[in-house]
Amino acid sequence: MLRIFLFSVFFGSTFVLSAQDTLYARKVIRKLTSKEAFGRGYTKGGLDHAARFICSELTAANTNPLFPTGYYQYFDFSVNTFPSKMKVKVNGKLLKPGMDYIVNPENGSFKGKYQLNRKDSLTYVSENAPCPLIIHLKKKLTFSVATQSAAICMIDVLRGNVSEPITSAEVHIKSKLLKNFSSRNIGAFINGTRSNDSMVVFAAHYDHLGGMGNRTYFPGANDNASGVSVLLNLVKYYEKNPPGIKTVFLFFAGEEAGLLGSKFFVENKSLDFEKIKFLINLDLLGTGEEGIMVVNGAIHSKEYDLLNKINEKKKLVKEIKKRGKARNSDHYWFSEIGVPAFFIYTLGGPSAYHDVHDVADKLPLSDYVDVFKLITEFVGHL
Ligand SMILES: [Zn+2]
Repeated sequence: MLRIFLFSVFFGSTFVLSAQDTLYARKVIRKLTSKEAFGRGYTKGGLDHAARFICSELTAANTNPLFPTGYYQYFDFSVNTFPSKMKVKVNGKLLKPGMDYIVNPENGSFKGKYQLNRKDSLTYVSENAPCPLIIHLKKKLTFSVATQSAAICMIDVLRGNVSEPITSAEVHIKSKLLKNFSSRNIGAFINGTRSNDSMVVFAAHYDHLGGMGNRTYFPGANDNASGVSVLLNLVKYYEKNPPGIKTVFLFFAGEEAGLLGSKFFVENKSLDFEKIKFLINLDLLGTGEEGIMVVNGAIHSKEYDLLNKINEKKKLVKEIKKRGKARNSDHYWFSEIGVPAFFIYTLGGPSAYHDVHDVADKLPLSDYVDVFKLITEFVGHL
């Protein structure tokens, strides 16, 4: 709060993100990480819940729908899910899903109790199970999304949460491969006051990993409820401060399944890509203690220097690091077809990533206001 106050004293004449807007960010992040959104994935209607929320915010802000059919662009892909209750007992101890273990996202269904043999200090296997049953001991549990399933049963167990050596496992897992899961990208735009022949594009994925079993879900507060909240705050900002050129907001689905939403968007030529002056993709925006990373910063030096110039002048984030190309978020397909793009993520803070600990309450939003200011100033000077 103090920081926001001082910020307003120094930059009082221009728009600053107020305490109210960080409250709005918190509200968005809470909604997107709620039980109803169930990890914004493939069971319990989680992704749809998130999509409807984003769409209602875009409607309330009076933005224009981007697609001929409205705010949504539908596409589908196959995804492996674990919709029902899971049971994993190791050495007789019932383990908690997400906290004690995570299944391999490609796992098929599996039921039975088997003896396990030690393969190495971190790996235990069953010789007599009907398909490979393998337990890996891990220091950290990390989940992901699989677009296929296999006749395997691999389980990562948090080392220290079970007794060693492991001698037996009782497992009951039901998997369901959804062959044509219907997903949707969301797009909106605000007209430019000077021209619509050129545009700035902001992007953030709103999907996450969904659930694992009938009660455990991955909230994805930092990844990427945080980025969505910045995008929705940008929508509010540009509604109040109409931009000179057309400004587009893209909320992608299928990112965690392999950048599938953005791939579909680019392959279907859903915008006139030639007209994009710059694209900024935001993913993992919830921290910032150690500054920000700019993917493609090493490629677009002029724009990277501009970011630094603004930052030095206004004393915003601690450091702006740069990287080259990386296929690690939705900017990738745009970069590949020659659209100038940055992918910005914040550095420092909690290390929860793709696990059940990436929760709203622990997200510090440490440098949220500064990063927001840096982005809007940058776009204003492009
Ligand atoms: Zn992400």
